[in-house]
Amino acid sequence: MTSKHNNDRSAWLQGPSAPCLPLSTENAHPWRLILLGAPGVGKGTQADLLHQRLKSCHLSTGDVFRAASTHAECDQSPAMKAAIEFMRRGALVPDTTVWEMVRERAQCLRCRGGFILDGFPRTVAQAESLQGLLSTEGIPLSAVVNYELPLEEIVARLSGRRTCKCCKTVYHVVHQPAKGQGVCDRCGGQLFQREDDRPESITVRMEAYERSTAPLIEFYKKLGLLVPIAAVASPDQICQRTLTALEERSAARVLTTPGE
Ligand code: AMP
Repeated sequence: MTSKHNNDRSAWLQGPSAPCLPLSTENAHPWRLILLGAPGVGKGTQADLLHQRLKSCHLSTGDVFRAASTHAECDQSPAMKAAIEFMRRGALVPDTTVWEMVRERAQCLRCRGGFILDGFPRTVAQAESLQGLLSTEGIPLSAVVNYELPLEEIVARLSGRRTCKCCKTVYHVVHQPAKGQGVCDRCGGQLFQREDDRPESITVRMEAYERSTAPLIEFYKKLGLLVPIAAVASPDQICQRTLTALEERSAARVLTTPGE
């Protein structure tokens, strides 16, 4: 992949052979970020905002599984069919399926525009596979941002969340309602409630998070990559908080690493 190309989100959703869109600007200092946090903490919204500010691509494994679920059944591989069923229940998709899919688009991780991973990795096994690939290829992670939010707030956010069918913009029925009833402000698409945002799935997802994903906080802390961010504020404020923390981290690293 050359610096003239951007492994944008739509190419990632269309599969390994989809070409990337041309970059509108050069990304001289690409950011390679992982966003961590419980379901509903706002990782998708932050990934979108960070993508606009940093120009790194927003890659969401959840979006890939949702896009696959809209394909005709005959176009879904047996592994993908099984993955969609896990997703509907709110359970994690098996590591082998997730890793196969990420590896198919490994060129997105090599892109000179950088990346923002949202929803991946979600288990220690996935994080180890990713570390292995990144270190073999000599691709350094810039940071791992962990969004923190109390549990009651998370449940309220998830149950009120509505998502645009077309552009994936996220709204909340109380905190961030769309101007038109059930219609996206950005593209006019229809808003819907994700199947896995229903109460029975929320419980399963929170358990999966506690059991499988929360241990990643310690994993990345040990690697010196963790940047904790309080996720209680407006999306723009949280994004600004994230950018400030990333700049501070980057400045501190330059000061402590002579010659970098
Ligand atoms: P998200 O949009 O990130 O909340 O993901 C929606 C659903 O897709 C999750 O509840 C899982 O069923 C599945 N999923 C997405 N990413 C992963 C992953 N890295 N590992 C396992 N399952 C995943």
